[in-house]
Amino acid sequence: MINLVLFGPPGAGKGTQAAFLSRAYKLIHLSTGDILREEIAADTPIGQTAKDIICRGELVPDSMVIDLIQEKLDKNPRANGFLFDGFPRTVPQAEALDTLLIHYGRSVSAMLSLEVEKEELIARLMNRGTTSGRDDDSNHSIIENRIEIYNQKTAPLISYYRNAGKYESINGTGTIEEITSRLKALIEKLPQDRKSR
Ligand code: AMP
Repeated sequence: MINLVLFGPPGAGKGTQAAFLSRAYKLIHLSTGDILREEIAADTPIGQTAKDIICRGELVPDSMVIDLIQEKLDKNPRANGFLFDGFPRTVPQAEALDTLLIHYGRSVSAMLSLEVEKEELIARLMNRGTTSGRDDDSNHSIIENRIEIYNQKTAPLISYYRNAGKYESINGTGTIEEITSRLKALIEKLPQDRKSR
């Protein structure tokens, strides 16, 4: 059993790598961004609240994403493990995730942090915006805002997981295949005691 947090700023490649890793290790891929976009598409009350916040490049309330993740954990009690993508994004979310996982007799095995320079992130997001149809990817000032919020609210999670002995840094530049290989090499080297719950 293995539970991974795939971490990094917007545009670091979390979604792309999460798709490969979840398949390779038979993990349930939980992307709060994807879940929120599904809620918006279905025009649910959660989607209606989240829509404008996401368009501005800000974070939705912690309680909203924590409840969504709890629901997914509840629905998959026998999962081999989970791959969290875009969650947690704040320290309270990380604390809530730890508490939720304890409830299921699980724990985070590792936080895999994809490191990419800011200029490259902006270029990747602007490029993604031409094909993804995502409003929050096509506007330079919204992208800047997302990176700024990442630095303020999300980057502190590096210390959180480092203090827990679970922080692993990965070079997030290169080809998709190169980055996948780096991630797999790291996952395969994780000590057994961190993979057992
Ligand atoms: P993403 O697809 O991960 O880039 O997420 C798109 C947007 O959804 C973010 O810019 C936030 O507005 C919102 N979002 C996704 N995950 C979270 C989270 N864990 N906490 C707060 N907001 C989130």
